[in-house]
Amino acid sequence: MYENIKNDLSPKEKIDILFKLFKGENISELIDKLDNSAVVGMQYFLWETAAEFGIICRGKEFSRKEITRKMTPTSKYQQQQGCSERTYSCKGTYCIHTNPDCARKKIKEHVNIIAQAIHQYISIEQQNESF
Ligand SMILES: [Zn+2]
Repeated sequence: MYENIKNDLSPKEKIDILFKLFKGENISELIDKLDNSAVVGMQYFLWETAAEFGIICRGKEFSRKEITRKMTPTSKYQQQQGCSERTYSCKGTYCIHTNPDCARKKIKEHVNIIAQAIHQYISIEQQNESF
């Protein structure tokens, strides 16, 4: 389970995601086309991007919590899905291999929430500066 799983997206995949993101397109649909490790890679990449924009926008005030608090808590999500993984296991990174349907659905929700946050940071910055 923990052997070297390559989670990195290719530069092209990253650019595709950013392009869609800037155009305001729904990027969670991309998940259906990606294999399991790429789905995890996409999640990592979006977190990195959100943190970068969040820090530009909010500086030291930025906290991942402002994004995670909008997400369904894992225990509640598991109940809704009838997922029988232990709570700490029901994460995209792990669950995607044991219970892909549950994990993909969850990651879609997370991706949408992270994308909304990135949009918010971009629009705040666009108001502050003239590009
Ligand atoms: Zn699960």
